[in-house]
Amino acid sequence: MHDVDVVIVGAGAAGLSLARRLTAPGPDAGAGQRPSVALVDAPAGPLRPPPRTWCFWEEPGGEYDDVLAASWDRLRVTAPDGTAVTARPAPLRYKMIRSAHFEERTGALLSRSGCLRYEAAVDRVRDLPGGGAEVRGRDGTGADFRLRARWAFDSRPPRRPLPARTTLLQHFRGWFVRTDRPRFDDGVADLMDFRTPQPGRGLSFGYVLPLGPQEALVEYTEFSPSVLTTAAYERALRHYAEDVLGLGPFRVTATEQGVIPMTDARFPRRSGRSVFPIGAAGGATRPATGYTFAAAQRHTRAVADALARGRTPLVPAPHPSRSRLMDAVLLRAVDTGRVDGAAFFTGLFRDVPAHRLLRFLDGGTHWWEDVLIGLRTPVRPMLRTALELPLLPRRAPVPPGHRRPDR
Ligand SMILES: Cc1cc2nc3c(=O)[nH]c(=O)nc-3n(C[C@H](O)[C@H](O)[C@H](O)COP(=O)(O)OP(=O)(O)OC[C@H]3O[C@@H](n4cnc5c(N)ncnc54)[C@H](O)[C@@H]3O)c2cc1C
Repeated sequence: MHDVDVVIVGAGAAGLSLARRLTAPGPDAGAGQRPSVALVDAPAGPLRPPPRTWCFWEEPGGEYDDVLAASWDRLRVTAPDGTAVTARPAPLRYKMIRSAHFEERTGALLSRSGCLRYEAAVDRVRDLPGGGAEVRGRDGTGADFRLRARWAFDSRPPRRPLPARTTLLQHFRGWFVRTDRPRFDDGVADLMDFRTPQPGRGLSFGYVLPLGPQEALVEYTEFSPSVLTTAAYERALRHYAEDVLGLGPFRVTATEQGVIPMTDARFPRRSGRSVFPIGAAGGATRPATGYTFAAAQRHTRAVADALARGRTPLVPAPHPSRSRLMDAVLLRAVDTGRVDGAAFFTGLFRDVPAHRLLRFLDGGTHWWEDVLIGLRTPVRPMLRTALELPLLPRRAPVPPGHRRPDR
């Protein structure tokens, strides 16, 4: 006997999106009877991620347009020598949503929909012998928590990094700044500004999202094997904001920091007969960029659609295999230093129409468009890397500071 039809573990980007799609009236929910849904999130504390901003691209009129913090119709990438390429990816726009606004809006819709919400630190999600799944953990008072459902969707991050041929980290710290004078063009988002000192392995760049002429989110980002200390991020940010951007006097009003694994690991599409990973845990992070939010939306839409049709929610992976293969090549080529990351991304942005590049990153291009994009990359090192990939085993990533005994 199940307590609910669907239990979702984790009320982040993916968990909230899936809960809303399953319970909201409209096409996502299907014509049939809507399932009963329970959403379980960790109690306030270390398991809950801090507030963050999510950026993604889509045409105007998207489902979250009413809660966007900002959006931009021009994107810029700047080479190490200061040469900038600005592109209009029309009809797409680059959009920013704050996690707090997303949670507030989705939370309000869920409370009207009858979705059950629980707080518990979940330590086990598993199949039940007689069918369905069980979620177990401890609630905020330390008492046992247990819920049974026909289907379980789990967005908890994996306990250990998955075996991969390459794992880099996209790690960053950002300041929300307010400058004394107008310093920003609030029509342009700076996706990658490579005028930052480049690390020995991987790459680094500045990222600037203006929220007004005197306000912006200014970030320092690296794609590299290990994170920095807070002091090192602060030094890098200060150098970028003061010496590279020349912001003049400014105040830091808030900060944002994060780590997103960029990996060619294989993410399982199901972890039991009735248990399915979703969100970053389900492989929604695009390996070569770290963007996750839009893929989590597509994936949860597909899951809700399958359930509404009465099907097993074993839907296609969030990113097509061709995209994952191309990203695996790029990750390894950057990690081995065979391609210069700054030159690679600036060249790609200069030579490929922005709307095609963004569609490619969403897995929405045809194979021949992918070939055209591939031809705009340094073909020889990329081909060499592609040929060696099948010979490389996927292994558990080595924590920073440790060496593999066999190297
Ligand atoms: C600072 C930051 C900025 C980012 N910016 C972008 C961006 O601009 N664009 C983009 O596409 N991606 C971005 N990402 C990547 C990605 O979109 C986010 O990490 C996104 O939140 C992933 O959604 P999710 O639902 O998979 O995981 P989360 O949103 O992290 O949700 C996981 C949920 O699981 C819960 N949980 C964890 N452990 C337990 C447990 N044991 N029991 C119960 N609940 C548990 C947590 O409380 C949380 O609510 C960013 C990531 C970070 C860290």
